[in-house]
Amino acid sequence: MLPIMPIGPRAENPTAAVERLRAAAKSRAAHPRRMRVHQLRTMKRMLEENESRFLDALGHDLGKSPTEGLLTELMPVRAEIDHALLHLTDWMDKRPVKTPLSLKPATAEVQARPKGLVLIIGAWNYPLQLVLAPLVAAVAAGNTVIVSPSEKAPATAAVLRDLLPTYLDSALISVVAGGKDCNTELLTHPFDHILYTGGERVGRIVYEAAAKTLTPVTLELGGKSPVVVTESRNVMAMARRIAFGKFTNAGQTCVAPDYVLAVGDAAHEQLVRALPEAIREFYGEDPRVSNDYGRLISEEHASRLQDMLAADLQDGAQLLVGGRVDAHHRYMAPTVVTGVRADHALMQEELFGPVLPILKVETFQEALDFITARPHPLAAYLFTDRPRFHRAFEEQVQAGAVCTDVTLLHAGLTTLPFGGIGASGIGAYHGETGFETFSHMRPSLAKTDQVDTLKVAYPPYTWFKRKALPKML
Ligand code: NAD
Repeated sequence: MLPIMPIGPRAENPTAAVERLRAAAKSRAAHPRRMRVHQLRTMKRMLEENESRFLDALGHDLGKSPTEGLLTELMPVRAEIDHALLHLTDWMDKRPVKTPLSLKPATAEVQARPKGLVLIIGAWNYPLQLVLAPLVAAVAAGNTVIVSPSEKAPATAAVLRDLLPTYLDSALISVVAGGKDCNTELLTHPFDHILYTGGERVGRIVYEAAAKTLTPVTLELGGKSPVVVTESRNVMAMARRIAFGKFTNAGQTCVAPDYVLAVGDAAHEQLVRALPEAIREFYGEDPRVSNDYGRLISEEHASRLQDMLAADLQDGAQLLVGGRVDAHHRYMAPTVVTGVRADHALMQEELFGPVLPILKVETFQEALDFITARPHPLAAYLFTDRPRFHRAFEEQVQAGAVCTDVTLLHAGLTTLPFGGIGASGIGAYHGETGFETFSHMRPSLAKTDQVDTLKVAYPPYTWFKRKALPKML
């Protein structure tokens, strides 16, 4: 384990960072393609040369096993870097668009231009990925960047504060201390874009502050992502995929299945039989001694989940598996609860931990109505053998993403945009979407002055012009 490093001299004062990087943005030093490529390649080298430091820090903050850290933090960032390096030239190229007859001869194009100075505020649950994946997009788009890691994952934040200025060009990228006070100061300044990842409450604070300076925002928030399960032909595959989505990172994943709606008795029974088996396969008889099972971020977070669980068990819900909590050691066993009702504590807010409530509904339509009556989640999952249900789910459910017979993995695809809708967020990133998020997709029009076809649009408006104009579009 790494000792937790102090903030140290490398964490720049927020206002000083803004002033310095604002000037750097004006100099356009981050614009050239070769500079972007150089920074991206260097970031990749930083990940390769310091893999074990990053994995140790993740182990310290969240008890992530090295393999889980690799799979869910380092690999997605590497994939983002490789994807950006492969496509950067295309993304930066001018994109010609058609012009109407009335404007010919002319050239109309859209070109991605760097926005300028951007701020990235990360969350603690994937403290590396949620800072570095947006950084890849912001750098690929040619911006100067201030990175504010979450203070709640201090070991990872310390490694970022140490390594980013060592590897990347400090004239263009700054890492600040992070946390409430630092962000409050940062948010008094105008930026050209802010990408914030975290909960809704702080999301509103960021949005309000950004409104004062007319700064565009991407808000990557959370919500209660549902899983609808109908009777399945391959029960164990279904159970493993749900358990993987739920218990990876001890349930502290923004797109983790939050609760299950089991449609009918048969689906419910299948799930109740298979989920404990899948959990045993993953983490053994005692998950507490499994090297592959993570820890909660804090004692308070463990106590919060423990209290909600206790209240619902007193109020008619039943423990299927797990339930053991040792808040002091930030441990909560993978837990599944049946007999849960919509008015139970576990159903009032995003759980963000390893408790999976199962609710029984009679029909598939009832499940759809349950989901659509609530705020739009960040992801919605369906496990079914019936194409009719699949079509209805895709048609009726509004969520950041919909996935059938799989959980979580859509978040790792560089080819899919990642973001929420409504209460689960504003905007998206990853891959080309991330590049465009941090770019101004600037239109341009150039018209030759050799032939003045525009005359027809100028006053005085004669009878002839009135007839001719509509035909020229
Ligand atoms: P958090 O406590 O790490 O806070 C997020 C960020 O906000 C941190 O950098 C923190 O320093 C900063 N912050 C805290 N108070 C602030 C304030 N008053 N002003 C300005 N900044 C402040 O994370 P959290 O909020 O506990 O995150 C959990 C939530 O994040 C969950 O709802 C989860 O679903 C969501 N999340 C979403 C995504 C996504 O990609 N959509 C990813 C991870 C987590």
